[in-house]
Amino acid sequence: MLGGTFDPVHLGHLRSAVELHEALMLDRLHMIPASRPPLRGAPNVTARERLALLTLGIGDTPGLVADSRELEREGPSYTADTLVSLREEYGQEARLVMALGHDAFLRLADWHEPERLFALAHVVVIDRPDWDVPLPGALAELLRGREVDSPDALMARPAGLLLRLCLPTRMAISATEIRQRLATGRSVRFLLPEAVEERIRQERLCCA
Ligand code: ATP
Repeated sequence: MLGGTFDPVHLGHLRSAVELHEALMLDRLHMIPASRPPLRGAPNVTARERLALLTLGIGDTPGLVADSRELEREGPSYTADTLVSLREEYGQEARLVMALGHDAFLRLADWHEPERLFALAHVVVIDRPDWDVPLPGALAELLRGREVDSPDALMARPAGLLLRLCLPTRMAISATEIRQRLATGRSVRFLLPEAVEERIRQERLCCA
């Protein structure tokens, strides 16, 4: 799974998802918008609309799925609950991977039940440009003994390990930058899929 706010989805998310799918030879990659992200303010755009943009952005890309499961739960969108639901769907033997960018990874120890995340899935960290900072102490503690250095080592077990991946295309695109550009009337062309840009403009979303 690749979870996020996706406010809005952009090519950094989508290209990373394609390359992750390829690098780990995943059967499927669920992109899951958070209905209520616990560690940040409420997004301006509703979860339904963010999901609609994500669905448009994915289009017919093989292996990528826009997954609405966090929109169907009440309360904060905890990833541990999402992983429980994916485990129920795929079974105890399946290799489950929770992927996240390095910026999000640095805050992992602050997430709800971080130990439980590793009981349910592997964690794969995607390098992002400009995020080369040392790990906080609590995070280093959480990760002790979990790191492996190859997709094969990761896939030998159903959960519990950490892999850092430097994907071939690293894009310094962020949703924050896109929202700021929209708010100030600057171009967002080639930062997100054309169909997503068109809908944002039609519906006047994300400060457009
Ligand atoms: P914001 O700027 O609003 O914080 P964002 O662009 O970081 O948004 P999120 O929806 O918060 O997007 O990100 C979802 C996940 O995708 C996170 O794990 C994040 O680290 C990762 N991600 C976001 N942008 C990129 C990118 N350009 N390359 C790789 N991973 C990314």
